[in-house]
Order: sequence, then C-alpha cells, then structure tokens
Amino acid sequence: MIIDGHNDLVLHRWRGEPTLHLDLDAARAAGFSGGFFALYVPSPSVPDPDEIPYEVPLPEPIPYEEAARVAEELFAALCELPVELATSVDDFREGQVTAIVHMEGAEPLAPDLSDLERWYERGLRSVGLVWSRPNAFAEGVPFRFPSSPDTGAGLTDAGRELVRACNRLGILVDLSHLNEAGFWDLQGISDAPLVATHSNAHALCAASRNLTDRQLDAIRDSAGVVGVNFAVGFLRQDGHNGAATPITEIVRHIDYLVERMGIDHVAFGSDFDGATIPEELGGVAGLPKLVSALRDAGYDDAAIAKLTHENWLRVLAATWR
Ligand code: ZN
Repeated sequence: MIIDGHNDLVLHRWRGEPTLHLDLDAARAAGFSGGFFALYVPSPSVPDPDEIPYEVPLPEPIPYEEAARVAEELFAALCELPVELATSVDDFREGQVTAIVHMEGAEPLAPDLSDLERWYERGLRSVGLVWSRPNAFAEGVPFRFPSSPDTGAGLTDAGRELVRACNRLGILVDLSHLNEAGFWDLQGISDAPLVATHSNAHALCAASRNLTDRQLDAIRDSAGVVGVNFAVGFLRQDGHNGAATPITEIVRHIDYLVERMGIDHVAFGSDFDGATIPEELGGVAGLPKLVSALRDAGYDDAAIAKLTHENWLRVLAATWR
C-alpha cells in the first residue's frame, strides 16, 4: 500500500486537461491507495526556470471571494473523481484510491474563519496555510535557487487563529511552501505533529522550498513527517528542472532524511501532476520502481512499510479527531 503527501490531479480535472502522472486505473494497479489531493487555486502559471540561479517574484495575492468561488469548483471536480474521501485512517484500503481533501493555500477560507467548520463537515482534513503567494494567514517562499527558506514575515494573527482552530477540529496543518519565520511560528503554536507534505532536504538541494536541518529536527521532535517531493528541481543538487534525473535522486533525499530524522519520519509526497518528475519514474505506474530502488538501497520490508504508508497513517491518526 502506498499513501502519498501531494498531488494536483484536481487542478487538471478542473481545467479539463488530461492527467500527467496520476492515472487512477494505473494507480490501483501500482498499489497507490491515495493521499493528499490538493485544492489549489492557481496563480497565473509560474514558468519553470531553466537558468540557475533563479529568483521568481512572489505571485500576487488572490482575494478571498475569488478564491472561495474557484475552490467550490475544485471541490466539485474532486467529488466527480472515482475516489473515496478520507475522514479516518480506516478509510485507506488496498485496491481503492482514497483522497484526503487538502487546501493548498488557505485563500478560500474567510479570514475570520467563519466557513472553516462548513469545510470540515464537507471533508476538509488538511490545510496548507500558503502556496507561495502571501495571503491573510501567512506568506510562502518565493521560488528561488539557491536560497534559504528564511524569506519573509511569519504568521499573521489570523494565521495563528487558523492553526489553533485546525488543532481544535483535528485538521492537519501543512508546512510545505511556508517560509521559515512562519514555520517557527506554527511550531510554537501547534499541538499536532509537524508535517511537510511535499518538501525535501535543503542540505542536498538549496531551493527555498526545502527544509533546513533545524527544521527537520523540529519535525522529528514533534513525531511528525516529511513527504519527499519528486519534483526534480527540489531534488537535484544543481537545482535544474530536467526530467532526465534518475530515481536514485529521490532515494538520496530519503537516505538523508532517514539518517537525520529516523525511519519513522519520512514518507512520499510525490507532487504528481504538479511538477516535473524524473522521467525514469514517469508517474504513478512507476512507483514499484521506486520501491525496488529503496530495496536495492538496503531498506527492508519493515522500513518500506513505514516509508510507503505507515508513517502517514500514524501522523493522520494522531492529528485527526
Ligand atoms: Zn505545492
């Protein structure tokens, strides 16, 4: 069984575009049992930078009313997929794809949080405070390489309230995309395990989107988890966005994170349909190749079970109510 920290299939469905990586029939055949399905209100598309170094300015904020309208349409597109929505860890089963409703960027939520409970009742179980652009709650990192993740101000008062409200309801709060000041603000407030659904090790790839050793240590100390992102630009030491990147680059980050945090704190966070991934992996059908690469790298059955699903299930069980 494979559970995954991030995909953007819903965005493609909403746009009427074919999936790039996450064909749901291929998913079932590959042992993919689901994971976090993002409701992401898009900014005008950020071009994939092919020059290194790169520095893409933060996209413009999106007003709440507009974001809320688009999020309704995204949620409708998710509900049309042949997937179950997860409200408990028991909802994940072999041979079936189960979706965790995840908001990537909290713009669709009213800053006074008046609609959060309605979203919870409809199935929302994970919120990333930000994608990259600033909003009423926090500010994300701009896409930069090389760059520290320490790029701007931390959580707003509304952002702090949102973290507390999510803790109360049992909604997971995602640290991926958040800048470092926001990370430490959230770490100081949240009583749940810290989670980065799709981020990598900054020590191996110095993109602003990746996590420093100090951040990794804080996630470990909270009994949390990092979902390793398959986006080549966040894997490769040179920061390049070329698909001609071997699967062993994913294994390199898993090795580093396991060495730093322990086997209980590392999982998958593919970014399928949201990024350029290694062509050797190709998409969801290639996941068994990644599992064999892990076996070749010395991970035994017990370790692979933790990396592929047990760590996600443990953290979800500790977070959800
Ligand atoms: Zn993302």
